[in-house]
Amino acid sequence: MDCVVCTSVPVILRPPRNTICGACYEGARSIINLINKLESEKKGSDTSPPNSCKTLVDVSRWVSDRKDIENVLKEEASFLRTGFFTALKDQIHTDIQLKPANNGLSLPAHRALLAARSQIFKNMLDSDVCKAAPTDTITLSELNYEELECLVEFLYTGSLSKEKMEKHVYSLSVAADKYEISYLQKFCERQMLRSLNSSNALDVLEISDICSYISLKETALNFIVKNMEDIAFSARYDQFALKSPHLCVQITRASLMEAKKKMISL
Ligand SMILES: [Zn+2]
Repeated sequence: MDCVVCTSVPVILRPPRNTICGACYEGARSIINLINKLESEKKGSDTSPPNSCKTLVDVSRWVSDRKDIENVLKEEASFLRTGFFTALKDQIHTDIQLKPANNGLSLPAHRALLAARSQIFKNMLDSDVCKAAPTDTITLSELNYEELECLVEFLYTGSLSKEKMEKHVYSLSVAADKYEISYLQKFCERQMLRSLNSSNALDVLEISDICSYISLKETALNFIVKNMEDIAFSARYDQFALKSPHLCVQITRASLMEAKKKMISL
């Protein structure tokens, strides 16, 4: 069919050039519905009437508005990120040291920023005020130097490179859970969900169990059950069974339920 939207050279079509294929029709309807749904869900939005997006011209205007908003947010994020991170890198008014496990080299930081990012750090530093000689070091014994460096970078910038995240996602998840840094928890959860595969599913299950990521734990468990053959005969499963027998019980039960479901559907 000659569709005026997706034909590569619509000008060669005969006038009045008003034919549209099924895919373009469905696509246009669904994007208009999606925009109206998002607009009606937007809290506090009383400027635009319901179903204000009617044509593809409205869609194009909506997308362009979102692009403008995205640019403003990017500028804001960059403004917030660079100021604090520069103060850290240049050690401007840093007033506390963070120490990793095994008495490793410490990293300087700002008390105010730590307190703002984590309720646990805030409590530690608040209780400090009562003491005659306030401590100038916090030890994070669950992290090594490199992991601590990543945690500090995240606290100052709200982000981490893909490479660092892939390498340290498990230890950062544990730290996020311990120090109640909810945004880092979400960040780690997203990373584990994106990278879930047969070789890391048991690690993801373990961490999501420790850190109470309910939905991620369910996803990892379902993934393991579906890929049981690859996972159960791996060497990693032997170590896992010794370390986390309660999770092995959950895997066995979930596998049996899955097998039962398959039997019924046959
Ligand atoms: Zn089309």
